[in-house]
Amino acid sequence: MMTRGTILDQNEFMQGLIKRNPGEVEFHQAVEEVATSVIPFINENPKYIESQILERMTEPDRTIIFRVCWEDDEGNIRTNRGYRVQFNNAIGPYKGGLRFHPSVNLSILKFLGFEQTFKNSLTTLPMGSGKGGADFNPKEKSEREIMRFCQAFMTELSKHIGEHMDIPAGDIGVGSREISFMFGQYKRLKNEFTGALTGKALEFGGSLIRKEATGYGCAYFMEEMLKHQGNTIAGKTCLVSGSGNVAQYAAQKLMQLGGKVITMSDSTGFIHDPDGLTEEKLEYIIKLKTFRRGNLSEFSENFNCKFYEDKKPWSIKADLAFPCATQNEIDKKDAKILIKNGCIGIAEGANMPSNKEAVEAFREAGIVFGPSKAANAGGVAVSGLEMTQNSIRMAWHRDELEERLKKIMQNIHQQCINYGVEKDRIDYLKGANLAGFVKVANAMLAYGVV
Ligand code: NDP
Repeated sequence: MMTRGTILDQNEFMQGLIKRNPGEVEFHQAVEEVATSVIPFINENPKYIESQILERMTEPDRTIIFRVCWEDDEGNIRTNRGYRVQFNNAIGPYKGGLRFHPSVNLSILKFLGFEQTFKNSLTTLPMGSGKGGADFNPKEKSEREIMRFCQAFMTELSKHIGEHMDIPAGDIGVGSREISFMFGQYKRLKNEFTGALTGKALEFGGSLIRKEATGYGCAYFMEEMLKHQGNTIAGKTCLVSGSGNVAQYAAQKLMQLGGKVITMSDSTGFIHDPDGLTEEKLEYIIKLKTFRRGNLSEFSENFNCKFYEDKKPWSIKADLAFPCATQNEIDKKDAKILIKNGCIGIAEGANMPSNKEAVEAFREAGIVFGPSKAANAGGVAVSGLEMTQNSIRMAWHRDELEERLKKIMQNIHQQCINYGVEKDRIDYLKGANLAGFVKVANAMLAYGVV
């Protein structure tokens, strides 16, 4: 491989990665985005080339794939595929969410695990990276079916996780209910009460602010980016996509900071409420999506606003955009429309919601762009604080936790500035990639060849 020379060539590096990981398009996309920022830096610091740090960082420590067999309510045997990608534990135990969605495959989990390496490094907390899940669809399953699936999934996963080894959390399709079923099974199998999962309910070791943390952190990150330009969220119209955990609390914090949230979406379409959401309307959405698991069209019927079936919200005119649903939900066309409509800032609540061409369009237009690994790191940061509280057998107060979250987001913003200053602007993507990279890379260098 050409990296033993003095220069790491991005094309050759990517060709090698694609050859070693055929067909894993989301993983290729995530690595390429990081490589674009990191390779010029590596070429200025040959110690990283000699030690093959980027090659090692793009290869997970291990990948566990397992069969999950469970019984549905009719007594049929069902089989799903479970995964845990333990990506990198150079700076702490593996940490990252579990996703239950029919689209889950190795490529998606490797992209998420790889991104998690940089995100967790940025939080300043001692956390390595991982991601897992299953191609299981929790939608239209009964409560008991979900419980049986979670128990079957954890029966295998429990062999590979633990409070000092790997601490999973939630992600798409895995909320408090699923974490509770899995934690109950873990506790039963291990006969111990340890914080091997985060996102737990408050009654058994969960942390205040955890459920709000990703969305709140994303709003705080936007506020920091705007503040740096002498601007603020107050008075701005905001597009939010998604209506799950991240979107709900991004919307709530945006409203608290004086923003006007005019859209939310789900996998069936989006709502446009030109008057802006209120606490009452958001409460309805939280109940609808989290507890009744209905579709957003119900909201439009109750609150007399428009529902656009099978559409994304990016064509609506607004000042700020917060993609909080899923990967690749903003393409080049969407980005161009946002820019044309006068959007001045994007903060990514979801993981990699903007594709490569969209990110390029934002960059060309000079729009302030907070990449997911920085803007949505608040969730895993408070998961880290949940681990600390579990270890010291304490529960911190809400105000203290929210203050810590705010400080962590400010610190991440500062790290992006430290590494992302350009002539006329801050390149937050480059800043986040480099700041995240340096800490993990230096830890790997210190360990020698392992
Ligand atoms: P939830 O399952 O709570 O919500 C997901 C939301 O996105 C739902 O509104 C869902 O609609 C919508 N959605 C999912 N897939 C699609 C799709 N293919 N097209 C359109 N809409 C879709 O997940 P979270 O809110 O937890 O996660 C959202 C994003 O944030 C993900 O990218 C996740 O990786 C990321 N993230 C989450 C963190 C967390 O703490 N939860 C932390 C950091 C990142 P519907 O209800 O119809 O399915």
